Amino acid sequence: MKIEIVEVGPRDGLQSEGLVWPTELKLALIERLTAAGLQRLEVASFVNPRKVPQMADAEAIFAALPRDGACSYVGLVLNHQGFERALAAGCREVGMAVVASETFNRRNQRVGTDESVAEWLRIARAARAAGVRAQVTVSAAFGCPFEGEVSPERVLDLAQRCAEGEPIEIALADTVGVAVPSQVADLFGRLRERVPHLPLRGHFHNTRNTGLANVYAAVAAGVTRIDASIGGIGGCPFAPAATGNVPTEDVLYMLERMGVSTGVSLAALLDAARWLEAQLGRAVPGMLVKAGPFPRIQPT
Ligand code: ZN
Repeated sequence: MKIEIVEVGPRDGLQSEGLVWPTELKLALIERLTAAGLQRLEVASFVNPRKVPQMADAEAIFAALPRDGACSYVGLVLNHQGFERALAAGCREVGMAVVASETFNRRNQRVGTDESVAEWLRIARAARAAGVRAQVTVSAAFGCPFEGEVSPERVLDLAQRCAEGEPIEIALADTVGVAVPSQVADLFGRLRERVPHLPLRGHFHNTRNTGLANVYAAVAAGVTRIDASIGGIGGCPFAPAATGNVPTEDVLYMLERMGVSTGVSLAALLDAARWLEAQLGRAVPGMLVKAGPFPRIQPT
C-alpha cells in the first residue's frame, strides 16, 4: 500500500505566520522538504497580496523552483485571475478551493459557492488547454466556523459538480479542524461511490486533536493522498481559532509503522522540522519532533 503525502507547509503553514517569510527562506524550506523525498508540495497561493501578504511572492517562488519535473509544485488559486497569474508564473499544477458553506466562501473568496464552482469549471477547462494539472478541494467539508454543521449531501453534491471539470483528484478539507474519524469514514466512503474514477485526497487540521485519527480513517476509507505540513504549522487567516495541519513527520511515522510506504525519509523530515523550529524561534506543534522516532534512528 502506498500513500502520497502532499506537503502544504510552505503555503497553508506559512500563510498563517505573523511574520512574512523572505522568499529565500521559503525556498530553503522547500529544498529541505524535497530532499526528504516529498514530491508534491503546495508552495504558494495566487491570491490578493493585500489580503494574504505572506503569499505575495508567489511569482518569485515559482521563478526560483527547479523545472526538471522531479517534483510537482502546486499553486493555490481561488479564481480565474489567480489561475492566469499561476500560468504566467510557470506553475504546472493548480489547486482550487470551493467552500461548502456559503458564508465561509463569501468571506474567503468574496463570491458565493455556486460562483466558485463555475469559476473552477472555467479554470479546469483553461488548465486542460494549457496542459496544466488541476485539482479541486471542497473546503469546510466537515463543519464551518460561521454556519456550524455542514450537510454531507451538500458536500457530496458540490464534489460531484466539481468532478465535471475532470480534476486529477478531489479533496475534502477539514479547514477548521472539527471532524471526527467516523464522519471522515462516512463522507469519504460516500464520495468514493459518487466519483469512483477519481483519486481522493484528505486535508486535516489538528485544531481539536483529531487530525491523526482522521488521517487514519481517511486512509481506511480509500483515500490515497494526504495533505500535511512540516511541524504541524498553519491555520487559516479567515477562520477564527483554526490551528495547524497534521504534522508531516507525525503522519509519516504512523503510516510507516503501519507498513504503508510513502517514499519519504523520516530522519530528513525531522531534521527539517528542527530547522523550522530554529527559524521560527519556537517549538512546532508536532509530537514526533519532541519524542523522537521509534525505534531510534540516527539523525542525518
Ligand atoms: Zn488548510
